Amino acid sequence: MSANHLLESTEQKSLRRAVGDLARRYGPAYFQAKARAGQPVEELWAEAGKLGYLGVNLPAEYGGGGAGITELSIVLEELGAAGCPLLMMIVSPAICGTVIARFGTEEQKRQWLPGLADGSRRMAFGITEPDAGSNSHRISTVARRDGEDWVLSGRKVFISGIDHADAVLFVGRTEDARTGRLKPALFVVPRDTPGFEYTAIPMELTAPEKQFQVFLDDVRLPPEALVGDEDAGLLQLFAGLNPERIMTAAFTLGMARYALSTAVEYAKTRTVWDAPIGAHQGIAHPLAQCSIEVELARLMMQKAAHLYDAGDDLGAGEAANMAKYAAGEASCRAVDQAVHTLGGNGLTQEYGLAALITATRVGRIAPVSREMILNYVAQHTLGLPRSY
Ligand SMILES: Cc1cc2nc3c(=O)[nH]c(=O)nc-3n(C[C@H](O)[C@H](O)[C@H](O)COP(=O)(O)OP(=O)(O)OC[C@H]3O[C@@H](n4cnc5c(N)ncnc54)[C@H](O)[C@@H]3O)c2cc1C
Repeated sequence: MSANHLLESTEQKSLRRAVGDLARRYGPAYFQAKARAGQPVEELWAEAGKLGYLGVNLPAEYGGGGAGITELSIVLEELGAAGCPLLMMIVSPAICGTVIARFGTEEQKRQWLPGLADGSRRMAFGITEPDAGSNSHRISTVARRDGEDWVLSGRKVFISGIDHADAVLFVGRTEDARTGRLKPALFVVPRDTPGFEYTAIPMELTAPEKQFQVFLDDVRLPPEALVGDEDAGLLQLFAGLNPERIMTAAFTLGMARYALSTAVEYAKTRTVWDAPIGAHQGIAHPLAQCSIEVELARLMMQKAAHLYDAGDDLGAGEAANMAKYAAGEASCRAVDQAVHTLGGNGLTQEYGLAALITATRVGRIAPVSREMILNYVAQHTLGLPRSY
């Protein structure tokens, strides 16, 4: 499956090629063995970090590549297209790296960005709560002042990759009893902080990353744990959420490209009557349709990434939502069709496609569900009244 390179610079094209070459050296067999064993893909992560791919979006003065989310999404998409989708890229360099680079203190930038950029350190991100779900305005993890310190208490759920992260960037709310409106504040909480506990949630996902539920029981943090301004938390949060959506699109679209190319190769050679099954329009047309839908979603993702990198947070917000939606839908359909194309082999471990059914579904649910994006577009793009 060839990628459309027309909209990219020479540097971006060579980045795409180089990342693809790296990922193919590891390949789907390596990735799937790790995923089945529930182990992180340390070797690939470390090499991608050393080559500058994981931190391509982070500022050069702190060890990053000085490029943007456009480049980071290229990295993630190509890793996925070669059968090695790295979910933690969405979290560590894209959300946490972006928020710290944009709003962190000089000390926080020096402490975290070089490690996030070269992959030697990782940071997870925790906003989702059991009782708030899609309604992030309802999060109840509270950060209260105690002298100079902050004390954080609450529960989180579905937080990815804590077991291999050095710290988690948690979203809490400062007490704001007067209005009751969300006043989020972001805190870096090292994994070994007393009162911070986490347990793995058994998931039907074949992936190197696990999801965790988290208990924050009067977690005492020094003042420097707060990232950015406690009064501008919402703006800071959104700065991280647009890259998250764009990167989730890259994550699922990479997998969709991998699934489609596997299916296409299979359909060219598998012959059960006189012609290869790919000659039958019942097989060829759905694959062609999926290919078009994936390409359209890629275009939307590129648009969102370009707007974000150009500093248009508002425009990027709408485009990132649309891209995440389009990518989730196109990827789920592409993987479903790829599995079907392989017949029984679609469900074997050898071809590794069945695991992508649940993996691409993540893109329909997280970080914001399909319905919440439809709500957003209905209200903000179309100006329709709010129903909830
Ligand atoms: C694999 C995986 C990894 C994740 N990693 C992280 C992570 O690292 N950090 C993190 O913070 N979170 C993470 N999440 C959480 C994810 O962001 C949430 O699952 C997601 O936001 C949806 O929340 P929920 O699961 O509580 O669903 P709910 O909010 O309970 O929604 C359930 C269903 O109801 C629908 N619904 C809800 N409200 C409305 C409405 N007003 N109108 C129409 N439909 C509605 C939703 O669309 C959805 O289909 C992860 C989730 C998964 C599955």
